[in-house]
Amino acid sequence: MSGDDSPRAGGPLLELDGVDKRFEDTHALRDVSLEVAAGETAVLIGSSGSGKSTVLRLIIGLLSPDAGRVRFDGAAVDCGDAAPHRRRIGYVIQEGGLFAHLSARDNVTLLARHLGWEPSRIEQRVGELSQLVQLPADALARFPVQLSGGQRQRVSLMRALMMDPDVLLLDEPLGALDPITRAELSRDLKDIFRSLGKTVLMVTHDVGEAGFFGDWVALMSEGQVVQRGTLPELVERPATPFVERFIAAQRGPLSGGAA
Ligand code: ADP
Ligand code: MG
Repeated sequence: MSGDDSPRAGGPLLELDGVDKRFEDTHALRDVSLEVAAGETAVLIGSSGSGKSTVLRLIIGLLSPDAGRVRFDGAAVDCGDAAPHRRRIGYVIQEGGLFAHLSARDNVTLLARHLGWEPSRIEQRVGELSQLVQLPADALARFPVQLSGGQRQRVSLMRALMMDPDVLLLDEPLGALDPITRAELSRDLKDIFRSLGKTVLMVTHDVGEAGFFGDWVALMSEGQVVQRGTLPELVERPATPFVERFIAAQRGPLSGGAA
């Protein structure tokens, strides 16, 4: 679509190859290999601490691997010079990560202003995006604390989409929302992904969400990918007893039960 920066044909857009990552005495990732093709929506699922956010931070170049390789569109991700690379990725961090001292509008437009976009171009893009994410116009002038949780996530998504990235990385975007807001935003997010046709890698700990969004899911435990497949594949043919337990644990007595 957009000249030099559009993704190459063939080959995965995102790639982790035998990646290891340690933080002092925590072995956060162990020999993780994953590939996400252009246009796919992939979901990383797993318990808290299983390494999901670390995978996203490696892809965007906030961390470098201790062993193995991380590639974006065929090129190794260089943490020292990640700025051009980061512009091709929209990142919604866990808890949204909006700057509290900036209005919603200023959060969304920060990078574009930094890059010297014309005000009229910025306005046009903000208009398109607020329509896309269905944010009421008066919400743009408010500070994050003055927005509802769902509105904050819509603003975070606008900020992530501002530069029209090839890839969206979303870290538990529905994590902190009440059930009704969560259901609404889930449907809207899915429509947005479909209409934009972007490559999406989403993190969640919720099996239902993983199945709702993911073309495929990768279940992580203790820094390893335990199984990758469609959710029905994981349900019907769990690779290990852990996979079975993880899925069964979320079909508790309140969710209507046995299958
Ligand atoms: P998840 O997103 O699945 O909850 P993370 O990727 O955030 O898990 O973390 C994986 C493991 O690495 C956890 O044990 C976490 O405490 C540890 N960890 C993550 N980031 C750091 C860090 N910057 N310093 C030390 N430990 C970290
Ligand atoms: Mg996390």
